[in-house]
Amino acid sequence: MAPMLRLYNTLTREKAAFAPIDPTHVRMYACGPTVYDAAHIGNARPIIVFDLLFRLLRHLYGEAHVTYARNVTDVDDKINARAAERGITIRELTDGTLEAFHADIRALGVLMPGDVNVAGERPRFVEPRATDHIGEMHTIIDGLVAAGHAYVAAGHVLFDVPSMPDYGALSKRPLDEMEAGARVEVAPYKRSPLDFVLWKPSKPGEPAWPSPCGIAEPGRPGWHIECSAMSWKHLGERFDIHAGGIDLIFPHHENEVAQSRCCFGTDVMANVWLHNGFLQVEGEKMSKSLGNFITIRDVLKDWPGEVARLAMLKTHYRQPIDWTLRGLEEAARMIERWYGLVGDTPPAPTLPETVLEPLLDDLNTAAALAELHRLDDPAALKAGANLLGLLGQTRSAREQGSIQAAGIDVARVEALIEARRAARAAKDWAASDRVRDELLAMGIAVKDGKAGTTWSVVS
Ligand code: AMP
Ligand code: ZN
Repeated sequence: MAPMLRLYNTLTREKAAFAPIDPTHVRMYACGPTVYDAAHIGNARPIIVFDLLFRLLRHLYGEAHVTYARNVTDVDDKINARAAERGITIRELTDGTLEAFHADIRALGVLMPGDVNVAGERPRFVEPRATDHIGEMHTIIDGLVAAGHAYVAAGHVLFDVPSMPDYGALSKRPLDEMEAGARVEVAPYKRSPLDFVLWKPSKPGEPAWPSPCGIAEPGRPGWHIECSAMSWKHLGERFDIHAGGIDLIFPHHENEVAQSRCCFGTDVMANVWLHNGFLQVEGEKMSKSLGNFITIRDVLKDWPGEVARLAMLKTHYRQPIDWTLRGLEEAARMIERWYGLVGDTPPAPTLPETVLEPLLDDLNTAAALAELHRLDDPAALKAGANLLGLLGQTRSAREQGSIQAAGIDVARVEALIEARRAARAAKDWAASDRVRDELLAMGIAVKDGKAGTTWSVVS
């Protein structure tokens, strides 16, 4: 029996013991990126958090007993517009963007399909693309129309929201509130303002596929249908966990639930719904207009991916996270300290219970990291950190990579900060000043505060 994992379920608004539908096969789905532009650091949050859940489930149930599907949205208005602007096909645009995304998240220590899949066995990690699942979308859309849950109007296929008595059960929004929200510019062909698009006609020049329901003109899918199609194909009609950012609860996840349940006649689409909180930057909403929009690539220019991963995991996944320079500096110090302790020690064969336990409590990473910090046995520390996707490098690999893109040798800086701390503790002010000058010559400023010494690159 696997130790008990408890998860907070958006569907029930409660934390409960997790029990997979099939005890030998845990199935989990996460809504992945829309690949039209470089991913930002907010997009990295669900990727990192649900990567950690995947690792934990693999630990609890066995590597061959967990399937993770994280989709790629490779058709949508923004993608179409960007490809048209550049005069390339959407496939050319999305292939290039996806490749860059993969490089970004790999640097963040995220498991990739190639890391976990085994030839000749059922795939453990799939990354389905929407445009490869048009056939499944047709099957679901045709099924919904046949069951009286969808209708064809003006070349569109629309989901008939009032046909589902318990629509809204996930987001728990009152119907009149949803209706008021939907009333802005209601398309004339909708029977109810809440009805949403399953399929729509393509305008000239837009990507197009043969349409379902006998519609003669080619068209393209709505956004929500793709996740119903991909999760069905890879995980089945009902599965265990469905995850994504909190912004997706309504309408995206609500509409996925409506499509899948009404098509397959099930009482739930996924048993457990997990949603990560939002990321903001230095206390402000991240946006292009505010000039504080940070891509994963921007972060990786200045920091090792592992530092960014730790900075992300320090906050519980359901809380909002404030992405700050200070947070990154703290994470960098922690990583240095741990590597210093661990050296090239191999991980202990069993995980430290003190680290595992908080993770079993709805992925309490903040508490797990505090416990890691308390460990002084290098092998236990390494095993615990590895479960979190941290301290995966050997000393020599780190030494080679220690000169950062910005030209800063973080390990050297940390060593000097430590030497300065020791000099100050010994009240050797001359030595302390010499180290400060050496750091300044490297372009590093140090600041002593209540929480200890922090450093930053002089701009
Ligand atoms: P998108 O590419 O916008 O569909 O987003 C991909 C994923 O990133 C979704 O799960 C979103 O909920 C999530 N996401 C987008 N922005 C943020 C943010 N600022 N903080 C946390 N998650 C985000
Ligand atoms: Zn989705």
